[in-house]
Amino acid sequence: MRLDKHCCELMATNLAAGETAILYVPKFREYGIRVLDGGSSFIVIEHCPWCGKMLPSRIRDAWFRQIESLGFEMGDEAIPTEFLSDAWWKARPQP
Ligand SMILES: [Zn+2]
Repeated sequence: MRLDKHCCELMATNLAAGETAILYVPKFREYGIRVLDGGSSFIVIEHCPWCGKMLPSRIRDAWFRQIESLGFEMGDEAIPTEFLSDAWWKARPQP
């Protein structure tokens, strides 16, 4: 699977429309189902609900290791912008 695209057309279409409970967090390469409590929490999913394929591995831990190795912590306003999107992991060997 190419990691710069989603697993299938339905996933891509639904994420683009933003009208389903499925979300994608590019910087962590995480897919999830929103918890409908008015907050921002979600439950991580490992398979696509439409095509059933295994989704790419999450890289949340690698993200924290990277920013900590650069001397930053979560919420730091000085975190380089590449770490706010998928740019940081696309620019490196795949974690
Ligand atoms: Zn899919």
